[in-house]
Amino acid sequence: MAARIYPIQTGFTVNYLIGGDGGAVLIDGGVPNSLPVFRKGFAKAGIEPAQVRLIVVTHGHWDHTGSVKAVKDFTGAPVAMHGLEKDWLEKSLMFMPPGVTPFGRFLSRFFRLFLPLVNVPAAPVDVVLGGEDFPLSDHGIPGRVLYTPGHTLGSVSVLLETGEAFVGDLAMNRFPMTLRPGFPIFAEDMAKVRESWRLLLEQGVRLVYPSHGKSFPADVMAGLVR
Ligand SMILES: [Zn+2]
Ligand SMILES: [Zn+2]
Repeated sequence: MAARIYPIQTGFTVNYLIGGDGGAVLIDGGVPNSLPVFRKGFAKAGIEPAQVRLIVVTHGHWDHTGSVKAVKDFTGAPVAMHGLEKDWLEKSLMFMPPGVTPFGRFLSRFFRLFLPLVNVPAAPVDVVLGGEDFPLSDHGIPGRVLYTPGHTLGSVSVLLETGEAFVGDLAMNRFPMTLRPGFPIFAEDMAKVRESWRLLLEQGVRLVYPSHGKSFPADVMAGLVR
């Protein structure tokens, strides 16, 4: 049976709860103080917290790590994150990537001002990801984690066998960040963003699920990296 996809929106971040035959995987831990929203999302999906076998954090920014500690306590599931950004969660470090469009540069400066006000509770990372694919079949869903750097150097994506990819901020599709689906407006390395997109396309991505905005067909990205 195919995996079931349940978006859980916390603030401007969409997290994804994926239900499979052998368990469930949660992708990202939203903005801070979001446990009540996650609880509701789980109830709506009909997934028990104990069914979650892994929490995959796509990257170390606060809007993806803010409630990881809370959902980890809620589910008892281990947290997987790339080694380059493990410290960001374990030591509550906060970074804002540079803008790569004029509006991105403006927003990046703006966000930097209020970053000191954000509080991300630290949580231990149990599974340290590297450059290799990490299979999720042992965690109950048909798919794997791929290393897809660019937005940050430790960004990862989850690709299901059926072609759905949960890409964190490797793409964006939400006002006021972008008016249409496409590249992120913040990135540490745009050349790597393009490379990661080529990799995902090679690996058979059909539908893109960004953390900011609605899902869209992967053809859009194919047009941009060509
Ligand atoms: Zn980000
Ligand atoms: Zn984000």
